[in-house]
Amino acid sequence: MCPDPRQEFKDLLGQTAEYLSWLKEDGVSQIEVGRGARTAPPPLLKGTTADMELVRIAKVISGCKKCPLHKTRTNTVPGQGDGKRPDIMFIGEAPGADEDEQGLAFVGRAGQLLTKMIEAMGFSRDEVFIANIAKCRPPDNRPPTPEEMETCIPFLKQQIAVIQPKVIVALGATAVQGLINQTGISKLRGNWVEYEGIALMPTFHPAYLLRNPPAKKEVWADLQAVLKRLGRTPPPVKKPG
Ligand code: URA
Repeated sequence: MCPDPRQEFKDLLGQTAEYLSWLKEDGVSQIEVGRGARTAPPPLLKGTTADMELVRIAKVISGCKKCPLHKTRTNTVPGQGDGKRPDIMFIGEAPGADEDEQGLAFVGRAGQLLTKMIEAMGFSRDEVFIANIAKCRPPDNRPPTPEEMETCIPFLKQQIAVIQPKVIVALGATAVQGLINQTGISKLRGNWVEYEGIALMPTFHPAYLLRNPPAKKEVWADLQAVLKRLGRTPPPVKKPG
C-alpha cells in the first residue's frame, strides 16, 4: 500500500511538535534554522547533544506503530553504544528473541559472537555503536519485508546523522540492502563503499558465521581493513590459560 502523503505530513508535524516540547522541557529556548541545500550532516540543534538526540529518537521509536511489527514486539530495539562520533557503527538486520526481550541490539548468540569480533579489534561494545535496520522483531526471526525496511530505515538514518561514525560495518545482506540498496553480499563484502560520505564496509552477518564458521576468515580480513582505515592495529591475540 502506498503511504498517504497527507498522513505522513501529519505524522511529521506531530513528531516535530513532540520534539519541540521535549526540547522546551529540557530548557532549550532557541533553535537556529539554516537555509538552502545541505551536504554536511545536520548540525545538532542549539542546546542539544548527540546523547539527547539519540534518546529522543529512541523515544519516537518506542511509540512507533507504522508497520505491523509493533503488534508482536515486546520492546523496541533502537540500538546502543557510544553515540559521539565513535570509530565504528555496526549495523545488523533486526532484533531476535533475546533482543526483543531485553530491548538491546545483538545480545543473543549472534550478539555474543559480535562482541568477540569487536573485542578482537581492540574495542569494547561501549566504544562502538550497535544498531539494526529494523527496530522491532519480525516474527519467527524472518528478515524484515521491503515495506517494513522502508518504513523503519528513516530512524536508522537519523541515528547515523547524529552519531557520525568514522566507519560503518554493515553486517549481512539486509543491512547492505537497506543502506546502499545493493544485493549480493558475497561479492560486495570486503569492498569499501560510501554511505552519505561515511566509509562503509559490507561483511557477513555473525548469525551466518555461526552456521558457517570457515567464513570467519573473510570477516576478520574485512575487520582488519576497517582497523587499517582507522589507523589502528588489532591487539595481540590472548593465549588461553
Ligand atoms: N541479529 C541482528 O541482525 N540484530 C540483532 O540485534 C540480533 C541478531
